[in-house]
Amino acid sequence: MKDAQDCPNIIKCPIYEKFKTELLKNIYISKYCKKDYESCVRYQYRLKGQRPPDYLLPDGKTLEHAKN
Ligand code: SF4
Repeated sequence: MKDAQDCPNIIKCPIYEKFKTELLKNIYISKYCKKDYESCVRYQYRLKGQRPPDYLLPDGKTLEHAKN
């Protein structure tokens, strides 16, 4: 269930399908998507009306295996 501090993109953000491990995914979710989403690079793209690449992580790093 979505609560007040969740990122507004949390339902449809495609990054969730790209992680190889639940552990890594959950680290990002707890640090960004359910807490400090305004500092997420993906969120900032959306604020500017741009679609971020699917392989771009909230901290600006990339998921190399998701680039192809
Ligand atoms: S990755 Fe960023 S844009 Fe996507 S749901 Fe999490 S905080 Fe929002």
